[in-house]
Amino acid sequence: MTGGRDYQVEGLVIRNAAVGERDRVVTLFTRDEGKLTFVARGARRPGSTLGPSVQMLTRGRFQCVRRRGLDLITQAVTVDSYSKLKADLWCMSCGFYLTELVDASTVEGSPNRALYDLLIAALSTASQGGCTEVLLRFFELRLLQYVGFCPALQSCVNCGAALRPEENSLSIDWGGVLCPECSPLCSDARPLSLDALKVLRFCLANTLDTSCRARLNDGLAREVEDHVYRFMSSVLQRDVKSRGWLQRLRAESLLTGHGEASTIADLCESG
Ligand SMILES: [Zn+2]
Repeated sequence: MTGGRDYQVEGLVIRNAAVGERDRVVTLFTRDEGKLTFVARGARRPGSTLGPSVQMLTRGRFQCVRRRGLDLITQAVTVDSYSKLKADLWCMSCGFYLTELVDASTVEGSPNRALYDLLIAALSTASQGGCTEVLLRFFELRLLQYVGFCPALQSCVNCGAALRPEENSLSIDWGGVLCPECSPLCSDARPLSLDALKVLRFCLANTLDTSCRARLNDGLAREVEDHVYRFMSSVLQRDVKSRGWLQRLRAESLLTGHGEASTIADLCESG
């Protein structure tokens, strides 16, 4: 985005609000410019050519005009509307959750290319193969890594001892895993099972595709989710609204690809 009044950006719509009778305020997450907010005039008008391209979870190339206040989106070409993702309630809800995490963890105009690539890869994977619990955890852990708050998992963050294959604990205040001897020293430490530690390490050591081959049983999935979300919420400093909706979908058993036998132990024996 260099000089001149007109410019083009490519990005994903991560926030979208109606304004006035015909317009939308649209927030894009772009690879090169980070998060940017625009006005899309007339996008709510019936038959608007702009309307479909500025819907949530749509990736496009946007023609923009610089002006005082919010810049305008004047034209757009959709690159990917993630129609398969949006056809499934669980997957679409996961997509909203991932975009809300990105929105909450970024500031306007500050690029994070690794996070952009992660978001696009996660949406593509979820579109093709569904959105598993491991995909969500992989995304959250990598997001924590890319914003500098990844939990330390290799050795005890207090004494430095190598972690033994037993129950340890995880602390937000101390930023990682504590061995059983050090756990009582930390008031916010929560028990971390060996399998949960393996899942966390596995996601941080492998690609998205490899990680998504893992399936977690319900108990392990909840334990890992609770641990990772505690870190997420301490970084974001706010509630993530779409998480409540995901929890409701799970509770109502609308979840797809869930409840399968755990294979994480086989996949991460080296962990
Ligand atoms: Zn220790």
